Formats: sequence, structure tokens, C-alpha cells
Amino acid sequence: MRPKGKVQITRPRPASTQAVVKQNIDTRNKLRIIPIGGCEEVGRNMTVYEYNNDIVILDMGLQFPEEDMLGIDYIIPNIEYLKGKEKNIRGVIFSHGHLDHIGAAPILLEKLGNPTIIGRNLTLAMVKHRVEDYKPNSSKKLKTILIKSLSDKLTLGAFRVSFFQIEHSIMDAVGLILTTPVGTVIHPGDWTMERAKDGKPLVDYTHLAKLQRPTVLMLESLGVVSNRPSPTSEELKKNLTEFISKAPGRVIIGTFSSQVERVGWIIEIAEKLGKRVALDGYSMKTNIEIAKELGYIKCKKETLIKVEQVHNLAENKVVIICPGAQGEENSALTRITEGSHRHIKIKKNDTIIFSSSVIPGNERTIQRLKDNLYRQCDNVIHGSLMDIHISGHGTKDDIAYMLKLVRPDYYIPVYANHYMLKEAEKLARGIGFNQNRIFVPDNGQVIEMDRHGARITKEKVPANYVFVDGMGVTDSSNDVVLRDRKMMSEDGMVVVITTIDSKTGDLIGSPDIISRGFIHMKENQELIQKTRMKIKSIIKGRPMPQPGVTEDDYVKNKIRGEIGQFLFQQTKRKPMLLPVVIRV
Ligand SMILES: [Zn+2]
Repeated sequence: MRPKGKVQITRPRPASTQAVVKQNIDTRNKLRIIPIGGCEEVGRNMTVYEYNNDIVILDMGLQFPEEDMLGIDYIIPNIEYLKGKEKNIRGVIFSHGHLDHIGAAPILLEKLGNPTIIGRNLTLAMVKHRVEDYKPNSSKKLKTILIKSLSDKLTLGAFRVSFFQIEHSIMDAVGLILTTPVGTVIHPGDWTMERAKDGKPLVDYTHLAKLQRPTVLMLESLGVVSNRPSPTSEELKKNLTEFISKAPGRVIIGTFSSQVERVGWIIEIAEKLGKRVALDGYSMKTNIEIAKELGYIKCKKETLIKVEQVHNLAENKVVIICPGAQGEENSALTRITEGSHRHIKIKKNDTIIFSSSVIPGNERTIQRLKDNLYRQCDNVIHGSLMDIHISGHGTKDDIAYMLKLVRPDYYIPVYANHYMLKEAEKLARGIGFNQNRIFVPDNGQVIEMDRHGARITKEKVPANYVFVDGMGVTDSSNDVVLRDRKMMSEDGMVVVITTIDSKTGDLIGSPDIISRGFIHMKENQELIQKTRMKIKSIIKGRPMPQPGVTEDDYVKNKIRGEIGQFLFQQTKRKPMLLPVVIRV
């Protein structure tokens, strides 16, 4: 029997998912800021802004599953709070086209009755593409407002919306300013800060200090624990040009498919050097295709070739760009390294460049990938050897710079793990911020602002995980499927098939025992034999059926309980037990 309550997902749920606090609070004439995702993790970014009967949403991102979420494709924000409030949604603004900001859009927009979506050109094109991918022909239903220029202004109910330039690793990323009757919210989305030689940022943010006060700065603070200065884009281009031009054979570059801007640079560099570029990986190809169509990446038609065409060219004329620099299972780079890629096998004189940073948690996989590559090839180049990556996120110094420059009345670090948000809080205190003007929210926690100021409340809206698994969407409170997967992955499964003569009630033959991932049947004949004997005696000794319980259910429960316990005593394992009773 599956021991109820004993099998659990071992990773503790984030604190915020444990309790939902509802209070009777007067919400009139208050700005309510509710980050329903993105404040306890990197991913599923989504923030709800509510003022009386008007709601504006920023981003609808997805989060990639963690190791113990077996078979889960991704996680999306929980929108229970918005149920019944759909008619109040004046618009959904997307800060940029990365999946942790737009990935949940196809599912959530549909669930919310397709509210108007707002974004710049590339971002909207990417949202539309994802919606179309999810359900063909459904992108026609989308109502869109294109941000044509950064000086565009919108009125969405009680919110006045304007935009500002920021830097990030994808084109068309935009910062957001929301002005309400009680204060102004500044949210750059994801941002980084490129600086000139004298340390001055290339983009001027001084205007953010002059907005109508009080101001709330919601600042993506993912880079707070890093202080390694990124190379400038010119330095990066120079380094890449040098590697690509000097490569004796093919160049294989592993990067994120979200690094649309960088992939664009590589294509331009390769073209200048008279080389051809093959893109591998579905999202890599789609992202670049969309950016090319909109004119963000300019190259000659013949520069881009298909992966299968690389064999028609001289080796030193070929650049291959593929995702998988994090060692992701099944990604193009992993398959190339393991020799299972259909068209590309590593050659000794290939040059392999990792143009991406190591995402925390992936260190071991990347180490293995590097070991594997160093065995097969003489020229592997990665970040610790050379500056070949620019982080898309502002560092500790950049965050401090921004805080000192904007001097917001309130600071809310967002879009990162909890410990990073706490580090960001520490940083702000260190440069003179008053503790009670910094809020570190959990997902679902409500920050409210009225004419007396802003505060973090005890109110909490649902923010627990919503899993997407194939075409299905499940709330995490219902994760029995996941528990089963976890159980099977740890101790395997055992199927017990008993055949009973429906006339006499006698067992026919010997029970069949099938096991997967539990024990080696051949080496454990004695255990199997004993198990069979036990099953036989369960069937023989069964009493007359009780009212309300069928005889088969009685047998199945008995097998689950007694055989489960017996197998545990013998092996110290708890396989999933599936009894089947056949009557003939
Ligand atoms: Zn981003």
C-alpha cells in the first residue's frame, strides 16, 4: 500500500505558498502591488497592480522545473486572485520577450479572456508566436497595443503609463513607469548597465529621479551577488571576432536562445569574415527568424544555412550557434558532445565557445560537459578564460548606482531568489536607505500605497505552483501525479496480477509479478517466490465480502498493505504497488 502522507516531495514549499491570508481590508483609493511570481525564484515573473476597479499586469513568465518535479514541463504564475476580476484588467504589459516574462502568456491570456496586451515590436511578435504555437490561429484573438516609441503614453483606467529605455540581452526590452493618484511605480523589467570607460552608464536614468513622488522602485536584483564587471559590447564583439577569425576549423558557439542580440552580433561578425552560420535548436531558430523578419538582425540571405548543409563547406567557413551551454539534457550542444547529434560530430580542430554564464545549480553538469569537450577537441573557450559573455543583469555596483541616482521613496527588490532580495535589501541599507522603506515581498504578498505612504501588508493571495505537464495544467495542491512519479523514480514499481475463477472463487495458477526499477527479478527468485506465497494466502484466507466493499477492492487493498510491508521489510524499499485482479 502506498503509505499515505509518507511520500512527499522533499523540497520544502516556499514559505509563501503555505498560507493564504484573507482579511477584510478597505482597498478603496489604494494602489495594491501584488507580485504573484518572481519574488522567490528566477522565473514566472508576474506583477499585478490594482487601483480600485482597474488592474494592470506586468509580465506573464514561466519557470523551469526543479530536479524533483519529474516530468513537469514548466511552472506558471497562479492567477486565482484575478478570478472574477477579469473585466477590470485594462492591459497586460510585457517588458521584453524572454520566456521568464512571456512564457505563460498563451495559457494565462486565454484564461483571463484575452485582455489587451502591450509591448514593443519584437516582444509582441514573440508573444504572438508562442500563442500561435500553443493553439494555431488563436493569435488573431489578441488585442494589442504596440509601443511604437519610448515617448508613447497610455491611460489604462486610473493608471497613466509611460516607458523608458533600458539595456538587456534582447532587443526591445522596455522599462515601465506607472503613475497613479497615490504614487509612481518604476519597474525596468530585466536590466543591465553598460558603462563607458569612465564608469558612466551609457543610458541616462536621471529622469527617473524627477518623477511625481512618492516613487516606488521595483528593481530586478538578480545580479546583486555578482560583482564581476561585464566586458562592454565592443570588447565582447572584438573577442568574438578574434576567435572566429583565427579558428582553424569550424566554430561552435553555445549560448542561450534568449540572447537574441548576441546571436545577431555573431551572425554579423561571421558574415564580415566570409563565413556561414547554421543555427540549431527550435527556439534559437524561431527567435532569430522573428528578429530577422522585423529587421533587428540584418544579414545576407546566403549567410544563414541549415545545419545539414555544413558538410558542403570548408570547415573554416562554418559557424554553428546552438543552445545547451548549461549542459541541458537533450539540447543541441549536449547531443553534439555526446556524439548523438544527427549532423554534427566534434572534430579535433573545432573551436568551441561557451558564450553564457553558469546558472547557479548547473555547475556540475557544465563541468561534465566541459570535460567531455576537452577530451574531443583542442580549442574550448569559456568565461573563466576570456570575456565572452555579458550578463543581462545589473551587478551589485549597478544596483547601488541606480538606487543612489533615482533615490526612490520605496525600494522593492524583485525578480530573483529570496536570498538575493535580502542581499539587495542589505545593499540598500548600506547606502543609507531607511529599513522601513524597503520591502522584500514573498510571492502573493500585497504591498499597498495610499496618500499616507506605502507598507507591506499581512494579506496574501494564492501564489503556489501551477504545473504545466504536456497539455495539462495542474495546481500544485493536487500534485499526486508528481508524488507518484517521484515514488517510481526512487523505488520503481511492482505489478501483481491475480487471476480468480469467478465461479469457484479460486486462484487460477500462480500470481504474476512484474517489476520495473525495483529489483533484479532473476537475482531475487527467493523473494519473488515468498511474495507469491503471501499473495496466495491473502486470496485463500479472504473473508466473505463486507457490505460496501467489493471483493476485488478487499483483495487489492490487502495486497497493497501486506505485500507492500513485506517488500519493505525485505528490501527497505517502497515501490509503487499496482494490484490487478482478473476474473475469468
Ligand atoms: Zn530577461
